[in-house]
Amino acid sequence: MKTVPACLIFCLLIFSGGAEAVQSVSPSRRITMDYDSREQLDQVLARLAPSALGQALNRVFLGTPEPTTGGPGHGAILDRLFQRVQMILDMPRPQLTITIRFHDDARGLQQAYQTLSGLHASTPAFYWQKTRTIHINSQAATLGMLAHEMAHAVIDNYFVIRPPGKIAEMLCQFVDKEVSRGNL
Ligand SMILES: [Zn+2]
Repeated sequence: MKTVPACLIFCLLIFSGGAEAVQSVSPSRRITMDYDSREQLDQVLARLAPSALGQALNRVFLGTPEPTTGGPGHGAILDRLFQRVQMILDMPRPQLTITIRFHDDARGLQQAYQTLSGLHASTPAFYWQKTRTIHINSQAATLGMLAHEMAHAVIDNYFVIRPPGKIAEMLCQFVDKEVSRGNL
């Protein structure tokens, strides 16, 4: 695959979308959230928050507090999801840091994919290993989808020799299914 210098990618991303991306970090500081406006981030995090049943199960099994949006707990749901993904895979990566780029819509996501890969694709999310960044359409984002891409990040950074793509994909689908059952 043709490689594009990192600085060029950065400039293209900054200047192609018009609005400049804003960044903040999750409480664990392991996840950088990259988004267009605070409103966009608040909306997506509120939508990702687990149901009342899921929250009760989390308190019983994981002893974790309810997720919060706004304030110091902002993004705690993403930290917990990242932790859960590693537990499901049985692949702990305590030092692994990732970025999640929340795109405003499907067009923004497709643009980013095309800029990075030079290819056209209509995917709701993808993981880009070079920058350890998950790109996702914030309007379509689900916990299962994010867990799937987080699993790609964990798998790609766990093995010295990366497993074949099909094997990695099967593992990511398994993680997606587990998380989508509702027990975060
Ligand atoms: Zn995948």
